[in-house]
Amino acid sequence: MSTTPGIESEEHAALRAAVAALGRRYGREYLARTAREGRHPDELWADAAKLGYLGVNLPEEYGGGGGGIAELAIVLEELGAAGSPLLMLVVSPAICGTVIARFGTEEQKRAWLPGLADGSRTMAFGITEPDAGSNSHRITTTARRDGDDWLLSGRKVFVSGVDIADATLIVGRTEDARTGALKPCLFIVPRDAPGFTRSVIDMEIQAAEKQFELVLDDVRLPADALVGEEDAGLLQLFAGLNPERIMTAAFAIGMGRYALGRAVDYARTRQVWKEPIGAHQAVAHPLAQAHIELELARLMMAKAAHLYDSGDDMGAGEAANMAKYAAGEACARAVDQAVHTLGGNGLTREYGLGALVTAARVARIAPVSREMILNFVSHQTLGLPKSY
Ligand SMILES: Cc1cc2nc3c(=O)[nH]c(=O)nc-3n(C[C@H](O)[C@H](O)[C@H](O)COP(=O)(O)OP(=O)(O)OC[C@H]3O[C@@H](n4cnc5c(N)ncnc54)[C@H](O)[C@@H]3O)c2cc1C
Repeated sequence: MSTTPGIESEEHAALRAAVAALGRRYGREYLARTAREGRHPDELWADAAKLGYLGVNLPEEYGGGGGGIAELAIVLEELGAAGSPLLMLVVSPAICGTVIARFGTEEQKRAWLPGLADGSRTMAFGITEPDAGSNSHRITTTARRDGDDWLLSGRKVFVSGVDIADATLIVGRTEDARTGALKPCLFIVPRDAPGFTRSVIDMEIQAAEKQFELVLDDVRLPADALVGEEDAGLLQLFAGLNPERIMTAAFAIGMGRYALGRAVDYARTRQVWKEPIGAHQAVAHPLAQAHIELELARLMMAKAAHLYDSGDDMGAGEAANMAKYAAGEACARAVDQAVHTLGGNGLTREYGLGALVTAARVARIAPVSREMILNFVSHQTLGLPKSY
């Protein structure tokens, strides 16, 4: 994909090229192998860490690169475009790193940010609950005080990477002592905390990162497990959710680009009539359309990252939702068309595109479904009334 002065700086273009080179050294086959072996892509993670890519968005004084979500999104997109995306970038440095850097205490920052930046520590993020789903106002994981400690109880579902993460940032609620109302709060829960149990969910996705159902049964946490102010929960939460949406867009655009690239290579050379199949417009046009849609989504992602990095949380919220929507749709269509372009080979292990059909659906569902984004735009942007 081309770079554009005024939209992408030379530094960003250079970062893109460098990450792409790392991605090419690993590629789809490497990632597929780690998934088959049921392990995390540690070698790629370590190499990306060594080059400073994992913590590129985190503050320099805590070992990060001092950049923003724009840079981290470039890292994820380019690794994905090479066929080897690192899903934990979405949660560990993007959500958890951002929330701790913006709202954590000095001790929390010292305890977590250098490790998140150099990749030696990882954090998962748990908000989804079985009985709340898309309606995160309905979550019931609740923290109550016990002396100076907190006791956290509840259930979470579909939380990625809990087995490899040193801790999970859990979205819970605390009870307002005066009104009894529940306020959202974020807690750092170490992987081996007593009362914190996980069971793996059998997903139909070929990926190194697994999803888990979590039970928190009176998990005792010290006072400093709470990140940020007890009364500023929502604001802090959204500070983490906007980067998550921007990073999911990057994940989807990377995957879409990867699939499109494979399809274009194939269409250039596969010949069953006089000309290669790519000469037939019925093959070429949908690929051109996929390219256009990915480019448009990428532009919206750059806008969202720019707004976020310049401190406009409200503007970033709308743009991040739109970017996630556009990228999820563009990815699903690009992968679908890529598989179709390869005919029978689209479904062989050798070409490795078939598994992406399932994987591409993730960006339509998580972290917020396309319908919830359409709801957001209907209500917040267009001012239409709400049905729920
Ligand atoms: C691979 C993967 C990884 C994930 N990783 C994490 C993670 O790390 N941490 C985490 O906390 N969660 C994670 N999730 C969970 C994800 O964020 C949720 O699946 C998502 O928010 C949707 O919630 P749900 O599955 O409960 O669907 P539901 O809320 O039950 O929705 C089901 C369907 O109903 C539609 N729907 C619901 N309400 C409305 C409405 N008002 N209007 C129109 N349509 C509606 C939805 O769009 C959807 O199509 C992950 C999910 C997947 C698949």
